[in-house]
Amino acid sequence: MNKEYDVIVVGGGNAALCAALSAREHGANVLVLERAPQASRGGNSAFSGGGLRMVHHGLEDIKSFAPELTSEQIARSDFGAYTAAQYLDDLGSMTEYRIDPDLAELFVNQSTDTVRWMRGHGVRFAPQYEWNSYQQGDRFVFPTGFVIAIVGGGRSLMDAEYEAAERLGITIRYRARTLRLLHGASGIEGVCVATNRVEKEIRARSIILACGGFESNREWRARYLGPGWDLAKVRGTRYNMGDGLRMALDAGAQPHGQWSGAHACAWDMNAPDYGDLAIGSAYSKHNYPWGIMLNADGRRFLDEGADIFTNTYAKYGRIIMEQPGQFAWQIFDSKTLPLLHGAYRIKQVTKVTAETLDELVAKLDGVNRTRAMATLTEFNSAVRSDIPFKPKTRDGRSTTGLAIPKSNWANAIDTPPFVAYAVTSGITMTFGGLKITTRAEVVDTEEQSIPGLYAAGELVGGIFYFNYPGGAGLMSGAVFGQIAGEQAARHALGK
Ligand SMILES: Cc1cc2nc3c(=O)[nH]c(=O)nc-3n(C[C@H](O)[C@H](O)[C@H](O)COP(=O)(O)OP(=O)(O)OC[C@H]3O[C@@H](n4cnc5c(N)ncnc54)[C@H](O)[C@@H]3O)c2cc1C
Repeated sequence: MNKEYDVIVVGGGNAALCAALSAREHGANVLVLERAPQASRGGNSAFSGGGLRMVHHGLEDIKSFAPELTSEQIARSDFGAYTAAQYLDDLGSMTEYRIDPDLAELFVNQSTDTVRWMRGHGVRFAPQYEWNSYQQGDRFVFPTGFVIAIVGGGRSLMDAEYEAAERLGITIRYRARTLRLLHGASGIEGVCVATNRVEKEIRARSIILACGGFESNREWRARYLGPGWDLAKVRGTRYNMGDGLRMALDAGAQPHGQWSGAHACAWDMNAPDYGDLAIGSAYSKHNYPWGIMLNADGRRFLDEGADIFTNTYAKYGRIIMEQPGQFAWQIFDSKTLPLLHGAYRIKQVTKVTAETLDELVAKLDGVNRTRAMATLTEFNSAVRSDIPFKPKTRDGRSTTGLAIPKSNWANAIDTPPFVAYAVTSGITMTFGGLKITTRAEVVDTEEQSIPGLYAAGELVGGIFYFNYPGGAGLMSGAVFGQIAGEQAARHALGK
């Protein structure tokens, strides 16, 4: 075979760059094909908040990832610990035990070392106090394994990984949309790529697909996720159209995981149709546990206090999608307003304020006012105010007698000013994907690995179903990207 590169990586987000760096470290000559122009490179990874869920054993581990922590921060922080068993339990229960157990173990067991490896490539980490901790007295307590985040968020992550790639001599082409895989006697032997609609074939011994799911593809969303999903806003990149999935299925790959499932969450009603890199994750509206949500009928439609937001936000987007008009209002009073994240204070936010509930309800665009007032009155009188309110620990301060309970953090909405934020459903990523082995080889419909074809990131199926623990997307892309890079290099170099 007349090969131009050992390894071609299709995609330009975190999974792709981790794969490229790993393949290069294992001796391969690597080409990265990113569909986006350079200014919008990095896929959803660039839009992300940069939170990473990994196994850790407390302060010493966290310090090793975030050496810039000051002694004052250390004295005031309780990072807890997050064991592999806890991580596996969370992945198991949140995916209704459908997660592929071999991929889950690999993913969890390699999480800490992979973050260390990313750090070695210039990615910087710090504890994410605003989103992931709560204050108890003068201490900050982190209730889950979701402690660290990338300093500067997703854009810094991608800048660091692209810089590392350039330093190591990896070739990067932008505006390079991969269209097809080339088959030959030894398996997958290259790709057909279009730049400005001009097609070209490029040969390599190994190809890694890391080009995202189909969340940006309106037509596929309606087809696989169901009616109404064509109307969702896209939280991140416009470039993840399912190309990698289509190419691989055309080459005989096996569809795997939940093709009807997606990660979607409460997202500002007036956010643009696709993500805006200048705003990043800040259109997210994850603070519903401190208030209530009303739909167009003026009714509550889910348990806002079922769990901490990192365990519910990714599945609640689907429920918002199912409401009339696909929108809801999140309502808070002055007691909990100080708890809202900075994302509620961006100037683009869709918000109304009022001094009385009547006045507030009149300002809720598209909502049945009479029913909304009745819901608020009924909710306020159902709150168990005998149980103390403790933000972010599951405090058991619930409601009684409501058809849809609020299980924790129930507070009467009774103290002005009252504030409401309009949200719709923002899709983050799709869950359906390709079947891979623990060596990130793509498997065909007869359970055989397709020689020369590897996959990592969002387009891997069998990891997320129904729901998703916050911080697991970047982690999955990094772990399987690193594995795919190593295996693709070994295959290409005949090792
Ligand atoms: C607003 C937002 C906030 C998030 N916050 C977090 C967080 O805090 N923590 C977390 O873990 N996860 C978070 N996520 C999820 C996380 O971003 C994704 O799980 C992860 O980035 C997926 O990585 P990936 O490399 O598989 O895909 P992406 O980063 O989306 O990369 C896919 C790449 O493929 C390219 N591409 C597509 N088609 C082609 C083609 N035909 N040819 C060539 N290239 C192609 C795209 O341009 C893109 O560069 C967030 C996502 C969003 C949108």
